[in-house]
Amino acid sequence: MVKTPRYEEAVLKVLGHGARFLSCREIHREMERALPSAPGSPSLSTIYRTVHRMAQEELLDTVHSPDGERLYRRCRTPARHHHLFCRLCGRVEEIVHLAELAEVAERVRGTSGFGELDYSFELTGVCPRCR
Ligand SMILES: [Zn+2]
Ligand SMILES: [Zn+2]
Repeated sequence: MVKTPRYEEAVLKVLGHGARFLSCREIHREMERALPSAPGSPSLSTIYRTVHRMAQEELLDTVHSPDGERLYRRCRTPARHHHLFCRLCGRVEEIVHLAELAEVAERVRGTSGFGELDYSFELTGVCPRCR
């Protein structure tokens, strides 16, 4: 496997520390706009792979848009946290990690025999500005 750290850097540059979550398609579009003349600019599928790996390595946070698309962002909060997603405007709030979820996972681990359980928890709603 060929590693592509330069694309990871480009992805991080595109995402910056913006407030919005972006889809792979948007990241790809931004990247093409930023480096129009770069030789061998990455294909959309390369971006998908890169971004997916970065999310697995917890370099990026992900949420699911109401239509099921995965969106990505660099979060300001390094600690584990959850997202509250406005279905109307796409605004995302961060909420602190809920210890109860770890307890639930622990209980499920005990009863299911599964190990190394992981989970994500995401809430969607309508934000105060959109209500
Ligand atoms: Zn986050
Ligand atoms: Zn809203």
